[in-house]
Amino acid sequence: MIPREVVVVAEHMAAELSDVALETLACAHELAFSLGWHVTCLILVDDPKPFQALPLASDRTLIVTDPALGSFNPAAYTRVLLHLLKDLSPRLVLLGNTSVGMDLAGPLSIGLGAPVVSGCTRVRAEGERLLFTSKLCGGKLLAQSEVRDGLAIALLMPGSYNREIGMLDRVPRVDVQASPVPLETLPLRFLELVEPKMEDVDVTKVPILVAAGRGIQSRENIEAMESLAKALGGAVCATRPVVDQRWLPRTRQIGRSGMTVKPRLYLALGVSGAPEHVEGMKDSELIVAVNTDPDAPIFDVAHYGATVDLLELVPVLTERIKALRGE
Ligand SMILES: Cc1cc2nc3c(=O)[nH]c(=O)nc-3n(C[C@H](O)[C@H](O)[C@H](O)COP(=O)(O)OP(=O)(O)OC[C@H]3O[C@@H](n4cnc5c(N)ncnc54)[C@H](O)[C@@H]3O)c2cc1C
Repeated sequence: MIPREVVVVAEHMAAELSDVALETLACAHELAFSLGWHVTCLILVDDPKPFQALPLASDRTLIVTDPALGSFNPAAYTRVLLHLLKDLSPRLVLLGNTSVGMDLAGPLSIGLGAPVVSGCTRVRAEGERLLFTSKLCGGKLLAQSEVRDGLAIALLMPGSYNREIGMLDRVPRVDVQASPVPLETLPLRFLELVEPKMEDVDVTKVPILVAAGRGIQSRENIEAMESLAKALGGAVCATRPVVDQRWLPRTRQIGRSGMTVKPRLYLALGVSGAPEHVEGMKDSELIVAVNTDPDAPIFDVAHYGATVDLLELVPVLTERIKALRGE
């Protein structure tokens, strides 16, 4: 019997695979390994060199090249993927649950006549059935769904699988081919990547971060967060709602639409732990969360946690740290 195919569409930026690409490969590898299925990793690029010798957890890496694939362009990607996926006829296509994955899932679903399962944190197979666990309502609810037969397209939540399993100790078969479809006439053209200006603290370089979530309740409480961060020798960062209310500049936002950080200590104060936020801080060395809600999803990623009122804790903690430092 010909083994079933799992296709991973690998995201990349600046000549590097993104974390979610490796996590998606880890998911495909775990699923395929137990079932004897075959994993193909698709990488769409202009220059194949940085990707040719990667020890990815796939049976085959197929690198498709074209000048139009240098930066992510949903129109170009969709055109190439529809062509390739019709040829490969996989059982499962895995993408990240990211803006890239979301841009592609709709057109691929229509073009291939396949259902999309979004927000997946786990993918399993039982006989012919593919089973998916998805996060809903910012991680507070889980949904189970199944695709009984035929192709399924799944969007995997960042952080759901260990990205280290996405790499093995050998380079798989690597094929490089030019785009099988012409990409000169696209309805959408990528112009440039606009990076934020770094006029403020660079939170990606600070070893201790005090993260202010909506639980801090008002702009006035930013000062207390700043005092705590100063006592610890760190800086304040924030969730999106705090930035949206202009309590802190956009350069301090952590998460999917902000910065990705890996500090030695991430002290999350009044942060619920929505997947979009966790994506940007989950690899911190030590995560300590303070939240009055014992069911807040931040406690799923925290190493230590306290269900206390941060507004009572922060001034006392700041004074204790200052005293310990002899200030
Ligand atoms: C496409 C997209 C991209 C996004 N990108 C990002 C992103 O980059 N970064 C990001 O952060 N979010 C992002 N979001 C938003 C994200 O989904 C969440 O809405 C957001 O992270 C929630 O922020 P929060 O934890 O501060 O607020 P909330 O979810 O409102 O949580 C506040 C928490 O504070 C706790 N609390 C309240 N009072 C106290 C108290 N006195 N003491 C202790 N705890 C208290 C509450 O129990 C609650 O858990 C994005 C959303 C989308 C759809």
